[in-house]
Amino acid sequence: MQFIDLAAQYKHLKEKIDKRIHDVLDHGNYIMGPEVEELENKLAEYVGVKHCISCANGTDALQLAMMVLNIKAGDAVFCPTFTFFATAEVVAYAGATPVFVDSDARTFNICMLDLENQIQKVIAEGLLLPKAIIAVDLFGLPANYPELEKIAAKYDLKLIEDAAQGFGGSINGKRACSFGDIATTSFFPAKPLGCYGDGGAIFTNNDEYASLLRSYRVHGKGKDKYDNVRIGLNSRLDTIQAAILLEKLVEFPTELLARNRLAARYDSELTGKFITPLVPEGYFSSWAQYTLISPHREKDMAQYAEHGIPTMIYYGTCMHQQTAFSHLGYTDADFPIATRLAKEVFSLPMHAYMK
Ligand SMILES: *Cc1c(COP(=O)(O)O)cnc(C)c1O
Repeated sequence: MQFIDLAAQYKHLKEKIDKRIHDVLDHGNYIMGPEVEELENKLAEYVGVKHCISCANGTDALQLAMMVLNIKAGDAVFCPTFTFFATAEVVAYAGATPVFVDSDARTFNICMLDLENQIQKVIAEGLLLPKAIIAVDLFGLPANYPELEKIAAKYDLKLIEDAAQGFGGSINGKRACSFGDIATTSFFPAKPLGCYGDGGAIFTNNDEYASLLRSYRVHGKGKDKYDNVRIGLNSRLDTIQAAILLEKLVEFPTELLARNRLAARYDSELTGKFITPLVPEGYFSSWAQYTLISPHREKDMAQYAEHGIPTMIYYGTCMHQQTAFSHLGYTDADFPIATRLAKEVFSLPMHAYMK
């Protein structure tokens, strides 16, 4: 049994995907070929936003968001401590300071109470300029955007949705990647919508951000890539990856339902034995991971392994515990819930093709 069975998915879609790849080999536009724009249009339509700008990976998508929002040294950017490293890495790479926030014990997402607490602390200290929040749709569940949007407005902060794991989720029908000022996602193979290599995308309703992003991703281009009007990156989605994603996107709604059926089955079998993940009323998860909480996870994981069932730990180390952020001077006592989650969570196999 596989933790994520990408081979089963490929087998199911093989003819269509092979044809799409061969179409690209035949036309030969490997970089920024027609499939890239076709995919961007379909993704924007699926999510329900005006602009989708594809790029090389989910980390670049976040980095490009930092560039567009002009996040720089002296700025504070609030993000959860319980997340994948890239969320906080891009903040530090931009020269700004990540300010970590504790998590909600049941949704695994950023805690609203601690967020406001951390914002007020930065304001009181007066050393950094509070600039933005990066909320993460951890394990596929959208963060609490109705509340996040209120807090962002109250403190005049930009709001970025890191939906690397969240693509396909929604709140009352409003889809992930449509929240905040800018949203980002990843098409890393193991994400809910994955390609066969690296890939990412940025979503926004803001015309000015969209045109800046299209420039930044191709060396800060002006009228073309040999006219460079600002410092940018080389961060494009390969045409072949876009072609693969076009076929996977057609199947994606069916896969989302299968993932949700599996999650419901896990819930019914495991509630009472473990603390199972909470999906609040009106929320829909893309189930990037199905994550349990157990005070004796080593024993539980060993038992699953005995039955040939692979399990994984996402994440065993919080951002405030990472060596790269040790200079920020945080302790576990600053984030009691996230620190406990890092010790107690483990995830079960999750994919649309499980028998
Ligand atoms: C995977 C992931 C990223 C980075 O995406 P890549 O495509 O691997 O660069 C960023 N944030 C979160 C929360 C992720 O899970």
